[in-house]
Amino acid sequence: MFKIQENVPLASYTTLKVGGSARYFVEINHQSDLKKVLMLAKKKEWNVFVLAGGSNVLISDQGFNGLVIKLNTQRTKIITESQKKIIIEVDAGVSLNELVNLAYQRGWSGLEWAIGIPGTLGGAVYNNAGAFSKTIGELVIKVKVLRKQNNLQLGSFQVFSDVIKMSAHKCKFSYRSSIFKEEKKWILLSAILNLKIGEKNIIEKKQKEYLKKRQDKQPNGFSAGSFFKNPRVDNKKLILQFEKEKGIKSIDQKIPAGWFIEKLGIKGKKIGGAQISEKHANFLINTGNATAEDFIILAGIIKQKVRNHFGVQLKEEVEMIGF
Ligand SMILES: Cc1cc2nc3c(=O)[nH]c(=O)nc-3n(C[C@H](O)[C@H](O)[C@H](O)COP(=O)(O)OP(=O)(O)OC[C@H]3O[C@@H](n4cnc5c(N)ncnc54)[C@H](O)[C@@H]3O)c2cc1C
Repeated sequence: MFKIQENVPLASYTTLKVGGSARYFVEINHQSDLKKVLMLAKKKEWNVFVLAGGSNVLISDQGFNGLVIKLNTQRTKIITESQKKIIIEVDAGVSLNELVNLAYQRGWSGLEWAIGIPGTLGGAVYNNAGAFSKTIGELVIKVKVLRKQNNLQLGSFQVFSDVIKMSAHKCKFSYRSSIFKEEKKWILLSAILNLKIGEKNIIEKKQKEYLKKRQDKQPNGFSAGSFFKNPRVDNKKLILQFEKEKGIKSIDQKIPAGWFIEKLGIKGKKIGGAQISEKHANFLINTGNATAEDFIILAGIIKQKVRNHFGVQLKEEVEMIGF
């Protein structure tokens, strides 16, 4: 069963801990309830937003004027297993960290890099989450989705189709993006992932290494992870300067967004309660009482300064909701 609530504050459902309320709010634990809720939203002409782990969103101070669906579906099912590989179907609402832990417990390899990334599998597929040169898209065989369709008779609000299966190439995975993020026409229900059978102690070792690297680099505190995407840069001089300074090669002509911010000397800069982390320049932190507007102003200043100094346009990785 599900319960529609009204005027529910959303900040505590996000890792940034900012934002206003949802006009309507519902937690969904079973896929069958999702369909019922969508039928209701259709009848009431509510706009719909799916909130998962809330670790990649900035919700406006005005909140969301529609129905926020908090997706908590939790099933993980083995599809096939052989001596070398295992194929599993994972519900969109499963926490990525729980999945990483399950993979370790069962001796499934392929997800070690995802340790420490908060959020759900659905959010990860939507954003093609990745770390250490690996991405979730590389593991996806297929996804199950509901597709939004505009109902022309009733204006722009959304109607949802039956469950559709989409193979990985149709998902158009690219750097921190997918067709789901580009077109915003889909609700992800589950993903079918291809993992390898590995050795538990090797999986554990890799996980520990990745976790240590993450902890060494990233700040604690309320954030949404990397605020900006790493931009692709045409300017060869800039790429050479970055490579020389950092002693690492740029991949695909990308330079970390944090490098530009660091070079501007603005780490620690604060607008209201929003601050550029001292530890990682691409992490914007809520020091306790930030508003969404503080983050928008701070992000705007960063973008303007990076554009003026380097001729590079930063784009947000974090999704802006309700603006
Ligand atoms: C400390 C920290 C570290 C991080 N490190 C990384 C990292 O290393 N790599 C990385 O890629 N990201 C990282 N992130 C960002 C974030 O955790 C990931 O992008 C994560 O996959 C987002 O998942 P979520 O469930 O929290 O999505 P949410 O923030 O809830 O939603 C993000 C977007 O996905 C959509 N969405 C979510 N679920 C569905 C669904 N089922 N169907 C349709 N749309 C859906 C939402 O509507 C929204 O538009 C980090 C974040 C934090 C706070």
